[in-house]
Amino acid sequence: MYRRKTKIIATMGPNSEKIIDELAKAVDIIRINLAHGDEEQHRRYFDMVRDKVPILADLPGPKLRIGDLKNPIDLKPGDKVTFGQDIPVDNEIFFKLIKKDSNVLIADGRIKLKIEEVGEGKAVATVIEGGTITSRKGINLPDADTPVGLTKRDYELLKLAIDLGATFIGLSFVINADDVKKVREIVGNRVWLISKIEKKKALSNLKEICKASDGVMVARGDLGVEVGLPSLPQIQRRIVKIARNYGKPVILATQVLESMVESPLPTRAEVTDVANSISQGVDAIMLSDETAIGLYPLDVVKTLDSLIISVEKTFKPKRIHIYKNVDEAIAYSAVVSSILSNSPAIFVYTRSGSTALRISRLRPTCPIITLTFDKSVAKRLSMCYGIYPVLTDKLETLDDITRKAKETALNLGLNGNIVVVGAARPDQKGTTRFVRIEEIN
Ligand code: PGA
Ligand code: MN
Repeated sequence: MYRRKTKIIATMGPNSEKIIDELAKAVDIIRINLAHGDEEQHRRYFDMVRDKVPILADLPGPKLRIGDLKNPIDLKPGDKVTFGQDIPVDNEIFFKLIKKDSNVLIADGRIKLKIEEVGEGKAVATVIEGGTITSRKGINLPDADTPVGLTKRDYELLKLAIDLGATFIGLSFVINADDVKKVREIVGNRVWLISKIEKKKALSNLKEICKASDGVMVARGDLGVEVGLPSLPQIQRRIVKIARNYGKPVILATQVLESMVESPLPTRAEVTDVANSISQGVDAIMLSDETAIGLYPLDVVKTLDSLIISVEKTFKPKRIHIYKNVDEAIAYSAVVSSILSNSPAIFVYTRSGSTALRISRLRPTCPIITLTFDKSVAKRLSMCYGIYPVLTDKLETLDDITRKAKETALNLGLNGNIVVVGAARPDQKGTTRFVRIEEIN
């Protein structure tokens, strides 16, 4: 039995909608990007996905965007255009943030304009790098102090997303732990909060952001514009390392297999980037435009799936060696035992998910089967490297746990020694104090 350990997240959009049944079977999580569409569309997407796979609802944050366009606009270098007339902008604040000679970047920096003149609610600009602009593409102003934190609209969308059954909430443009804590006060433990790292300012607060969040995303689109592309690879490496040290799942995002938006095959550079990211130890890989608006929404998932399987057979993600407490020491001993006993799987009985996270952080070579009675915990753990959640009844004793693990192993057709790990008492939350090696026969 081979199971892919690195998880796949696909983004909903007009093209993934058409193949939703097949898509939901092929991925672990579906992202609904709340930056696009109205409430009716959000409800429709949630209804379509909710019972199939866990949902990552991504809050837009204070990002400036192009308004709605009837038709795409082609821009050529040297063209003069007027923002507010030829090109609508979704927020008037844009005109306060720009001045003569400001650079305006559109679509993650692919299109570049320079401002010539700013007036009341309009601004004339010259195109430096051309391209085609479509509705609601993002705008970056590298020279301006653009707003951060959650907007009023984000708070409305947050409530809607929770009511509609989101498992994860993506927080855009987080710059410090307070941004996360403010949301936590509202949502408590109802959802996992995933901080998107996409501002330069967030990089000096990475540790505190990781501590306050349930997971982080290397949001390479905006981050790349913010820090400049030459710095992006090192910064990605740093974010992944810090997230793993804190035992928080980390998602690789943006332009993962971008060329497959239009082509049935990825590029050599893209497949190599995926392989390198897996060896750095990302938990999940996210597809954005590739599934939302790409021409090959299912092929791109299949491509990523077989790429991950092939990479995982040879590359091993780097193991970390920081253990700060007894729980982490027991988790470590479970992972080492699984290797030495050649176990086909590690079984974790988990109430809150924390033992499962401790094991996943150590990147064992075998799959981690988590036994949990809490559906929402099972859904959350689907984001984490190597974890396969199985729902069980509440178990009363350590012997019950061991029996259930063996029974599940038999049902899965496993044999040999399995490792069973959990808290000292089945009713305890948050600790890892029990490890057993059991023979299946
Ligand atoms: P976005 O976030 O797609 O919501 O902009 C991801 C990124 O910036 O990479
Ligand atoms: Mn972004």
